[in-house]
Amino acid sequence: DSRDFDEEVKSVCPFCGVGCQVSLKVKDGKVKYVEGVNGPANEGRLCVKGRFGFDYIHHPHRLTKPLIRREGAEKGLNVDPSNPFTHFREATWEEALDAAAGGLAHLRDTHGGASVAGFGSAKCTNEEAYLFQKLIRQGFGHNNVDHCTRLCHASSVAALMENVGSGAVTATFNEIENADVAIVIGANPVENHPVAATYFKQFTKRGGKLIVMDPRGVGLRRFATHMLQFRPGADVSLLNAIMSVIVEEELYDRAYIEKFTENWESEKQHLAQFTPEAMEDFCGIPAQTIREVAREFAGAKAGMIFWGMGVSQHIHGTDNSRCLISLALMTGNVGKPGAGLHPLRGQNNVQGASDAGLIPMFLPDYQDVTDDGVRGAFSEIWNTGDFSAEKGLTVTEILDAVHAGQIKGMYVLGENPAMSDPDVTHAREALASLEHLVVQDIFLTETANYADVILPAAAFYEKNGTVTNTNRQVQIGRAAVSPPGEAREDWAITLELAKRLGLAWEYDHPSQVFAEMKRGMSSLDNISWDRLENVGAVTYPSLSPEDPGQAIVFGDGFPRSEGRARFTPASVIAPDETPDAEYPMILTTGRQLEHWHTGSMTRRSKVLDAVEPQANCSLHPGTLRKMGVEPGGKVRLETRRGSITLMARADRAIAPDMVFLPFAYVEAAANILTNPALDPYGKIPEFKFAAVRVTAA
Ligand code: SF4
Repeated sequence: DSRDFDEEVKSVCPFCGVGCQVSLKVKDGKVKYVEGVNGPANEGRLCVKGRFGFDYIHHPHRLTKPLIRREGAEKGLNVDPSNPFTHFREATWEEALDAAAGGLAHLRDTHGGASVAGFGSAKCTNEEAYLFQKLIRQGFGHNNVDHCTRLCHASSVAALMENVGSGAVTATFNEIENADVAIVIGANPVENHPVAATYFKQFTKRGGKLIVMDPRGVGLRRFATHMLQFRPGADVSLLNAIMSVIVEEELYDRAYIEKFTENWESEKQHLAQFTPEAMEDFCGIPAQTIREVAREFAGAKAGMIFWGMGVSQHIHGTDNSRCLISLALMTGNVGKPGAGLHPLRGQNNVQGASDAGLIPMFLPDYQDVTDDGVRGAFSEIWNTGDFSAEKGLTVTEILDAVHAGQIKGMYVLGENPAMSDPDVTHAREALASLEHLVVQDIFLTETANYADVILPAAAFYEKNGTVTNTNRQVQIGRAAVSPPGEAREDWAITLELAKRLGLAWEYDHPSQVFAEMKRGMSSLDNISWDRLENVGAVTYPSLSPEDPGQAIVFGDGFPRSEGRARFTPASVIAPDETPDAEYPMILTTGRQLEHWHTGSMTRRSKVLDAVEPQANCSLHPGTLRKMGVEPGGKVRLETRRGSITLMARADRAIAPDMVFLPFAYVEAAANILTNPALDPYGKIPEFKFAAVRVTAA
């Protein structure tokens, strides 16, 4: 009986940024089933991933012993995860840690610290993210450390930091219950943030007006008062057109603009050229609809704006977010109940990992690494000398630097760039060319195929630590079961590597790391480990030891000069690669409800894999008919970077010249096709737009 259990442990779902609290029912050292508990972000609700996606932790592919590459074993995607011994041999922890740290130290001492880079993980705890960036900065003296935020919301954070002065959300998603209008743009929360989507649905049931904008007819369209299915890449023209109506019809909040913003006049002048009539053909939305939506949002007593990677993953991703920030500011929709800006975060701890400094340009709490005072403060906390004042390289730049021979070694914790990076053939070649690659993970991922040393890690339900969700809620995750075999918690492995790199680190428990983080992070004021143990979650900022935290921020000004947010006008930039005769269609990539990112966990979850077992893409039924392909038949997708063949589904929500491709499937890896062109500010790749040729296979 699966309902029979010995022990119950409360933790946090390891998948998306909603951060649902879960109760893990444990028997005989295994998690038997999972239920939702009354956390601040989920109130007992779970989606199918949280409910059924837990058994990967007991999968026979789990890494249970350290592995070292056999002499002469060729690097490539050539290892069977159920039998890694063709290419690797088992090692003791002592031997593996010595080899891992020794290889990295040798590169540091021979070629300088900048010859080694690190990719940390948004699926690890705050304490683990903090220690990882500290290891690279203290142990190698530079800032070449990044994680998957670079592939996710880096452009949103760049725009928020620039114009609002803070990268986090201004209001929790639960605030939608106090809104009367909400915009959801470039996001598919029904599949990617399913429990947040339940709050959006409840909002419409109470009469809230939901405006959905997306090139795909995403699931929330069934709840929308307006569904604007605009042309891919036309975000700036559509948003500027909406704002131009607000200017033209003087629907803006003059008092708010005067009190809390700067640069309004240049924004106003800039918008004059973007009338709905001038933009309607470009963005594919009738001028009249644009006018209606503008009046609806500007007329709201309180309005919220939610966005996802449909906004951020473009070479103009930062401009897209600048527009959303301007729209909220001109209508006075920040800092009051039911109003705010909310980029829906992807991974369960992408907010926390970024807060903890796992990014190349900022130390913890987004403190500028080029600032001598900031570095001095961390050198003191770390009891160490100074480290580089230069901003480090980002994820894709690091792989380019590997190709250029500047970076020769990497420490990769819980990331899978051999699947997740754009133009992944280029990324795989980079990984294969490294002189020394240390991979720390729970499975032998595609990236681990290229490793010299593999260190077996504990899964989320096997460790203790804090994570921070999309709502700025710091929550505590608890170990429910022991890691398999000799696998260890990530923080403990990083600690052992640090010692071998000559760093005097002493931690016995993640709570000690959290205490150290608090010394350099004012966002954690009034939040202690003990408090989190007692109450489970505290939203930052928390103004006193009793304050559950501020759901809404910036009601009395912004953390910028004179307390003012800024309007930064955005111009229309064409996608990097536009369709032509050779590649006439548009490729866009994303996720599906059942599978999480590169699929290493969910494709090893029995129920989720049974529900969604094979690689697929979606095309309009008319497009399939023209190609002579039945739904369920095979198609070949080709871009300038490569080709894949996979099953095609018919989906009327996809425009006739588009194909939607999930990126969880190694056998038809979406990122073989994607374009690595970067947004110049957030350095995020253009995953949402590439020119593609689709043919029957
Ligand atoms: Fe987990 Fe996100 Fe689903 Fe909640 S909504 S159960 S956090 S995947």
